[in-house]
Amino acid sequence: MKKQLAALLLTILCALSLPGCGEAVPSGEARTVYAMDTVMNLTVYGENAASALEGAEKELHTLDEAVLSRTAEGSELAALNAAGGETVHYAADDALPALIQTALAISDAANGAFDPTLAPVLDAWGFTKDERRVPSADELSSLLSRTGRDKVTLTEDADGWTVTLLDGAQLDLGGIAKGYAADLLRAQLAAEGVASATLDLGGDVFVMGKKSDGSDWRVAVKDPADTDSYLGILTASDKFIVTSGVYERYFEENGVRYHHIIDPATGCPAESGLVSVTVVCENGAWADALSTACFVLGTDGALDLRASLAAQGTDFELILVTDDGRVRYTGGLAPIFTPNEESGYSYEALS
Ligand code: FAD
Ligand code: MG
Repeated sequence: MKKQLAALLLTILCALSLPGCGEAVPSGEARTVYAMDTVMNLTVYGENAASALEGAEKELHTLDEAVLSRTAEGSELAALNAAGGETVHYAADDALPALIQTALAISDAANGAFDPTLAPVLDAWGFTKDERRVPSADELSSLLSRTGRDKVTLTEDADGWTVTLLDGAQLDLGGIAKGYAADLLRAQLAAEGVASATLDLGGDVFVMGKKSDGSDWRVAVKDPADTDSYLGILTASDKFIVTSGVYERYFEENGVRYHHIIDPATGCPAESGLVSVTVVCENGAWADALSTACFVLGTDGALDLRASLAAQGTDFELILVTDDGRVRYTGGLAPIFTPNEESGYSYEALS
């Protein structure tokens, strides 16, 4: 666990919002929270910073322990997974079914590349238990019969929600939960009158408002091959900047690296030619799930997904890092992304 914590701290240092050269760092209240097996750094500016941070930390622990954890005894998700196929009812204002609905919508949009039902497969690889191993092809094929979006039925009416997991399905929301948490914190901070903040939930970054000098935040996008270095700087305000990469959680066996982003079609770590995907958009849950989906889809599939969602009114931008050292970024980022020319990558702005 210590080693994991050190790796995560490194990740966060590289994802921190950076002041410009020679600028004074504006003062704010900062707090480090450990939740969802992740080190999170929150910085809030303005009069209500201290109480807003208090509330934010409480919200993160509640979400982790009482709602979204698969392993915490008594959490809502653990109870749903343990329901043995029985239909579970939820109140209309319950967060869990609303998040499951979002996860299913993104799964549909991404043709299943984002799949919230991969829990049994993730368990077989041991990613959530620190007991990592390579499952056999037979084991994976049997587990894949319990996965897929069609194994979840969800209804919503005026009385609330129902969710049923069919055929032994189990949900894992690790690919969307931190982005969703960032959405909730954003709303909570705004309700407390906060206008300026940076939230770094371990690779899921939200920059709220502007810096105290009125300029945009600067966020370093880390180099997947050297997390001490960075690929470039994004200049942004009121944006979620979320990265999924092969370097976050992985193990090595017989010289092969196995990472935690699973291709739902094979049950194995996705081999899409990408080593890192950063999504920039206006919604945290979508940014988080889309970064995972685009990683699985690879460059062409990710760009197709971006085009099809744009046609439906959901815009997002991408930074795609390929395993042969190229960084390709979509047109909307051209004015706000400054490549690090010393990184050794070749950069291409896509139209
Ligand atoms: P992302 O790329 O955003 O997502 C990858 C994660 O999504 C994987 O780790 C897996 O969980 C899931 N996933 C993989 N492939 C897909 C896919 N194709 N579609 C959809 N989802 C996919 N981990 C522990 O080891 N111990 C804990 O106690 C623990 N507690 C947690 C409690 C909560 C409430 C949550 C949400 C997560 C917890 N985790 C725990 C898991 C850990 O935080 C995840 O590894 C993390 O959420 C992954 O986020 P990421 O941004 O690194 O990766
Ligand atoms: Mg994600």
